[in-house]
Amino acid sequence: MRRLQLLVLISIFTATSFAAGKLNVVASTTDLASLAAEVGGDRIEVQSIAKGYQDPHYVEAKPSFLLMLRRADLLLAVGLQLEIGWLPPLITQCGNPKVQQNASGYFDASKFAKILDIPTTQITRAMGDVHPEGNPHYWLDPQNGLRIAKGIQQKLSEMRPADAAYFEQRFQAFSQKLAAAEKRYDDQMKPYRGRKVVTYHRSWPNFAERFGLNVVDYVEPRPGIPPGPQHTVQLIQMMKRDNVKVILVEPYFDLKTPNAVARETGAKVVVLLPSVGGEKEVTDYFKLFDYDVALLVQTFRSL
Ligand SMILES: [Zn+2]
Repeated sequence: MRRLQLLVLISIFTATSFAAGKLNVVASTTDLASLAAEVGGDRIEVQSIAKGYQDPHYVEAKPSFLLMLRRADLLLAVGLQLEIGWLPPLITQCGNPKVQQNASGYFDASKFAKILDIPTTQITRAMGDVHPEGNPHYWLDPQNGLRIAKGIQQKLSEMRPADAAYFEQRFQAFSQKLAAAEKRYDDQMKPYRGRKVVTYHRSWPNFAERFGLNVVDYVEPRPGIPPGPQHTVQLIQMMKRDNVKVILVEPYFDLKTPNAVARETGAKVVVLLPSVGGEKEVTDYFKLFDYDVALLVQTFRSL
């Protein structure tokens, strides 16, 4: 009996001490940080390492990132090797056992998402910077945002069982708001489904699949390889032949080649945002799609 009382006391104590402090969440990207904030509400403190206007493949390590990771209870990563050039060394160097790749405080969001472009043949260096586990830009389908948010809800509940009902309610609210937003996006994009576009990098397969864009080629000859004259000439020929009038460019790429291609083909160059924070007003996951969908509609309408 005494033992039981003691156990009850211990579990009450653990539950209250768990509920006391906010969970310290660090996300590799702003998009994951935004999804975490949706679910975690005021029970978490969340920061992201990469800025939304930076190329998430290449992030320069700073001492402040190590400090962030040292204090983290949970690290959210995109995975699929997107951050392979910069996140693994930060994780090792921060020395925080909670967020090491095999620890329970390391959350790989790709495990919860629908992944496209999974290579079916052997990867060689000649293919460029191909991600062998599939395309890591998967957060650009709101349905994947929903799946990731669900995964975050489960993880937060596991870490803070006393707040499970709160996270569940936050997830439900997010889910409803997202369903309404997606209905709006579908209505806006409906007249333009099937439109052909060229994109700079392979950042948009999930977005294109969700919203009915037809990505016919890339400014990069191969993923991660800068544009060169031979591919650019072929690209111009193809765009003229197939009457492709839109080139989508991520904000961190040089506009020189896209602008040159646009001059030759009469196409429009559109800087579409792949991440929250790509522009000042794009402060969360909803505003990211609001911005991109509105910009696409405006572009297609003007052609
Ligand atoms: Zn990429």
